[in-house]
Amino acid sequence: MNYEVVIGLEVHAQLKTNTKAFCGCSTQFGQEANTQACPVCLGFPGSLPVLNEKALEYGIRVGLALHCQIQKLTKFDRKNYFYPDLPKNYQISQYDLPLALGGFLEIELKELRKRIGIHRAHLEEDAGKLIHEGDHSLVDYNRAGIPLLEIVTEPDISSPDEAYEYLVSLKAILKYLEVCDCDMEKGSLRCDANISLRPQGAKELGTKTELKNLNSFKAVRDALSYEIKRQKELLESGKRIVQETLLWDESGEKTYSMRTKEEAMDYRYFPEPDLPAFVIRDEKIQAIKDVLPELPEALKKRFIAQYGLSDYDAGIIVAEKALAKFFEATLRLYPKAKLISNWLIGPLSYELNSRNMSIESLSFSVESFVSLLTLVDEARISNLAAKEVLTQMCNTGASPEVIVKEKNLLQVSDAGELEGIADKVIAGNEKSTADYKSGKANALMFLVGQVMKLSEGKANPKVAQEVLKKKLEKWGKDA
Ligand SMILES: [Zn+2]
Repeated sequence: MNYEVVIGLEVHAQLKTNTKAFCGCSTQFGQEANTQACPVCLGFPGSLPVLNEKALEYGIRVGLALHCQIQKLTKFDRKNYFYPDLPKNYQISQYDLPLALGGFLEIELKELRKRIGIHRAHLEEDAGKLIHEGDHSLVDYNRAGIPLLEIVTEPDISSPDEAYEYLVSLKAILKYLEVCDCDMEKGSLRCDANISLRPQGAKELGTKTELKNLNSFKAVRDALSYEIKRQKELLESGKRIVQETLLWDESGEKTYSMRTKEEAMDYRYFPEPDLPAFVIRDEKIQAIKDVLPELPEALKKRFIAQYGLSDYDAGIIVAEKALAKFFEATLRLYPKAKLISNWLIGPLSYELNSRNMSIESLSFSVESFVSLLTLVDEARISNLAAKEVLTQMCNTGASPEVIVKEKNLLQVSDAGELEGIADKVIAGNEKSTADYKSGKANALMFLVGQVMKLSEGKANPKVAQEVLKKKLEKWGKDA
């Protein structure tokens, strides 16, 4: 039987505020354990939470970018559960009146664009972090109370690849909005997945499992693929799927059961009495809307229309905000979009990837990059030499002119200078010369190659070819 896969994703994005969601404690990462905790985030009796306005603003920004309705009336609720990483024994979250409802995000698949519905987005606070050491565990509350935005999709995702694309697009949007640093290793972006299978064409949803402990986008894709296979095998052998929470074991590449799923009522949600429901004014929403940055999708359309980039090139460049910024900054100084995009997507990306470095940490300026492009564009250095110069620029931050001089990489484009070399090549390669004269065009490329070799790669191949052609014609007449 054919099965249809139904996936929904829940992403927790840590909002990049300076202070926590309901107190003034710092959110800085990597500080000594329990140095960023106060009576409010530790839940001491009598302490009162106050909502961080920045967290609310960031939440609204994301809601708007995902085409959601920002709810006028919103409130916070207590989600009750007992676990040592939760000092209050409840988490302040949003239950029935979340910040944002009903949006969508468009993802690009190989042949089509697909709209993934956004069910809701709500604000909540993070829990502390447990550190397990031998036979005991320690807890660090520095993270407790950091604002999170939970973004929940509709069950619109139909394959692990779609889930992957959704996460890539969502991450790009969060980065463009500058609300989350999206560093999965530091836990600032976390994802859980719900997945079920149903017979093709069936209306009713199958029993779902929830996947946790997904530490990378790749882990999300792998775990979902594994789970599809596992559920399919169970269904095909007439067994039932148990609704449960599963953990992904990345090294073993399998899921294992953590606990059977709690129902929402187990959390005994009730309104947070210390934070009354409140109304978000239209003017506030409009003011945030007015300053939303250009988002990747719009930027891509503009790059294609305004600069004539291909769909593919534009897609790669806008995928990272810093790369898109670098592209436009370069373009302002040197208006050759195709040349710039080729160098960004090709050699520069290669240099960055091999150093595991982001474009923000480049040791040279946009101006230096423009100098390099000018040298290539004016054929003063060869493409090959330019790549070598770029490597040096990444290593040392030196200017391309200095590197070219030091390494003596200037290309010889002067026909006069190349004539001597061409003579030597013709004299030393009688067979190829004769081949060319008898109509074998390939022989010319071989001779150009010899000129390149003799000039130690510095000859301009175009000029070398012209010089050789002229000489060979003469050579024929002399003979
Ligand atoms: Zn605090």
